[in-house]
Amino acid sequence: MLELRPNCECCDKDLPPAATDAVICTFECTFCRDCAEGRLGGRCPNCGGNLVARPIRPPAKLATHPASTKRVLKPQGCAELRP
Ligand SMILES: [Zn+2]
Ligand SMILES: [Zn+2]
Repeated sequence: MLELRPNCECCDKDLPPAATDAVICTFECTFCRDCAEGRLGGRCPNCGGNLVARPIRPPAKLATHPASTKRVLKPQGCAELRP
């Protein structure tokens, strides 16, 4: 089951479970679409894997399988990857 992390690792943008602009890698590193298509060039900066749209969990399922509230953020950000 996906954690559904609450934010973009690069820019710390809020990405609630219903966000349609959240993308993830195979390890569920989570980014917003702006970062993914911009500075990240469609690749996860942590593992090098591809990034795909995160599926939306239906609200009824969120009640029994809630999204993670633990924010994950790259301490140095992702800006240096694409000068
Ligand atoms: Zn972002
Ligand atoms: Zn990754």
